[in-house]
Amino acid sequence: MARYTGPSCRLCRREGQKMFLKGERCYSSKCAVEKRNYAPGQHGQGRKKVSDYGLQLREKQKAKRFYGLLETQFKNYFVKAEKRKGQTGENLLIMLETRLDNVVFRMGFASSRKEARQLVRHGHFTLNGKKVDIPSLEVKAGDVIKVKEKSTSSPKFKEVREMSISTPSWITVDPDKLEGKVLALPTRGDIDTPVAEHLIVELYSK
Ligand code: SF4
Repeated sequence: MARYTGPSCRLCRREGQKMFLKGERCYSSKCAVEKRNYAPGQHGQGRKKVSDYGLQLREKQKAKRFYGLLETQFKNYFVKAEKRKGQTGENLLIMLETRLDNVVFRMGFASSRKEARQLVRHGHFTLNGKKVDIPSLEVKAGDVIKVKEKSTSSPKFKEVREMSISTPSWITVDPDKLEGKVLALPTRGDIDTPVAEHLIVELYSK
């Protein structure tokens, strides 16, 4: 699967906000947004006026980058969200939020979505007792995600055991067991990703 391989911090600077793409560095003074809070490139400090289209485009780019998706993948999510009952924008965010890699990140088993995706791909987790390695898998209420027995002794997960993990209300985690459960599917109010989804709907509805 293709993925963005350029500098992550550049994406945050382009969106003008921290998107926490690099784990621990994002919480330190080394964060590029803390040091240079303007868009990258020659005209980065000069861009001011943004059209409606520009705002919609930026919101889509931001959502895409938060969840680490490429254009086609993101568009596919939108098409599926449109077909579901309810509001398309909310459906879209809920679908993104319930991706397995995002849930692993939310459970505190990874310091960024990027790391979560890598850990899932490398087969470090089970879903309801079965090995799983597909980051895009959509979790359901009641699903149990657990670090695979063989992986529990790795330094990464030993560290997780010692952390105090704060999770959103729709999931719960037992750090000792390295296990988390999806209590319910999130509602829009449970998702703190700072994205104005109605602008994305407007963009794709043109
Ligand atoms: Fe974004 Fe993290 Fe880089 Fe800061 S350190 S710019 S939050 S990826």
